[in-house]
Amino acid sequence: MAGATPSKRAAPDSNTLQPAKKTHWSQGLLASMNDPNLVVESDDRIVIIKDKYPKARYHFLVIPKLNFPNLKSLKREQSELLHYMEDQSRLLATKYPQVEFRYGYHAIPSMSQLHLHMISQDFDSPCLKTKRHWNSFNTRYFLDSADVIRCLEERGMVVTMTPIAGEKLLDQPLKCHKCVYSPQNMPKLKQHLYKHINN
Ligand code: AMP
Ligand code: ZN
Repeated sequence: MAGATPSKRAAPDSNTLQPAKKTHWSQGLLASMNDPNLVVESDDRIVIIKDKYPKARYHFLVIPKLNFPNLKSLKREQSELLHYMEDQSRLLATKYPQVEFRYGYHAIPSMSQLHLHMISQDFDSPCLKTKRHWNSFNTRYFLDSADVIRCLEERGMVVTMTPIAGEKLLDQPLKCHKCVYSPQNMPKLKQHLYKHINN
């Protein structure tokens, strides 16, 4: 602009070393969707990756390619996508005929970008360490895919729970998912779980 005082700050040229753009850890799934070491299936709509910190022997995440941050961002028209995500995960499960899986969503996820957990029910993994880990997959905090889809179709939105209700579930006493055993701590639960695994 004529007469304007030139800016004292030099514009960065393309060779200027810029600090690496740091993304928040909660965005990590976006990078993992392109990580060939993690991707197991991919098509034009979804990517299936191995969970980087698996909480069971088989733990996959089914992630849509379109940007949906979480369950709350879905509208009724996305129920077809959720069906597709579950169908594709069940298709992957046919490769593991001996393995029992559950398919669902954390009510209050920590990672951004919608992801369906497909997790084997052995819960035999060194990454499964805390009561919160356990309860996130073994209380009402884990929403079955079928229930999420039904809610979306009936109400036009996915109703989850308040953060306070979520915290209560994560803090519940430990309870085995296969029997009445209520262990005092995670090491006892993990030891007990081997009784239910038929290798
Ligand atoms: P949540 O958001 O609670 O539904 O769970 C996020 C899941 O993503 C957890 O099971 C983590 O182990 C997994 N996870 C965290 N970071 C990454 C990553 N960068 N790549 C793949 N999986 C991840
Ligand atoms: Zn048990």
